[in-house]
Amino acid sequence: MAKRVFSGMRPTGKLHLGHLAGALTNWVRLQNEYECLYCIVDWHALMSDYADSSRIRKNCKEVLLDWLAAGLDPEKSTIFVQSHVPQHAELHLALSMITPLGWLQRNPTYKEQILNIQNKDLGTYAFLGYPVLMASDILLYKAEMVPVGEDQSAHLEISRELARRFNNFYGEILPEPQMLLTPTPKVPGTDGRKMSKSYGNSIDIADSPEEMWNKIRTMITDPARERRTDPGDPEKCPVWDLHKVFNDDKEQHKEIIKGCTTAGIGCVQCKKMLMEHVKRVMEPIHERRRYYESHSENLRNIILAGAERAQILAQQTIDEIVNSIGFVP
Ligand code: SF4
Repeated sequence: MAKRVFSGMRPTGKLHLGHLAGALTNWVRLQNEYECLYCIVDWHALMSDYADSSRIRKNCKEVLLDWLAAGLDPEKSTIFVQSHVPQHAELHLALSMITPLGWLQRNPTYKEQILNIQNKDLGTYAFLGYPVLMASDILLYKAEMVPVGEDQSAHLEISRELARRFNNFYGEILPEPQMLLTPTPKVPGTDGRKMSKSYGNSIDIADSPEEMWNKIRTMITDPARERRTDPGDPEKCPVWDLHKVFNDDKEQHKEIIKGCTTAGIGCVQCKKMLMEHVKRVMEPIHERRRYYESHSENLRNIILAGAERAQILAQQTIDEIVNSIGFVP
């Protein structure tokens, strides 16, 4: 039997090329090798957006559209929305009983987010406990593997510790999920910082080729290359980082390195080359997105079918947990 993989994404709105290259391309590949469950974690969105939840439903739809556009196949993967499977909340409650507060208070991401996110009051009980909900998402399906980038390994460690702690108290029920470390390519936004919606520098999956070109055309380049006649250094240029992600023509890579470092090519020409590759990669993705946008009744069916499949697995785990704790069956 294929090993089970779980991953989730918060519904924050339209996804961008960073999500595509950093996670979705990998998820699409994994669905051919493993039994994959991909979950839109709307309860997690509520943790930070509880004061204004008006966009969560729309954002879930955008994420689903982007997932399907990227190539997630509901015939191969179980695609669902977290709140449609109430067992996530049930396991979250059970695990919260055994989670030492110190584990959560020491979580570096928690401290960082509390400091950095100033426009929302995140001093809530649920936000402190978000690694517990995350652990519930994974452990509910007894997922053996979780694809993570290196920066997320601390979260998974709490899930593993919680599985061990639960098993210590109640018997071997929850397997410890393993990290499926995935290479995360550097995907800078138009201003050179990490591509992120909150920086306003993202190129969205749903952007038309024209919109993408407008963003790529105005991207910053090697700051030292002020004039066309100045030589540049691709390693200091975010456009080059995107070439490395989207341009698979190794000969052209050599041309660009030579052209840039000798001022043989201009940045506009280099960006046009990049755009050709982005267009080629995005063409089938845009086509699938258009298809699902015009068949929105399918979207509902996909997530309902996904929730139904997920619930069967989830209830099996909950039954075992209830039994092992010793509640009245
Ligand atoms: Fe960047 Fe290309 Fe311009 Fe070099 S030629 S600075 S790699 S955009």
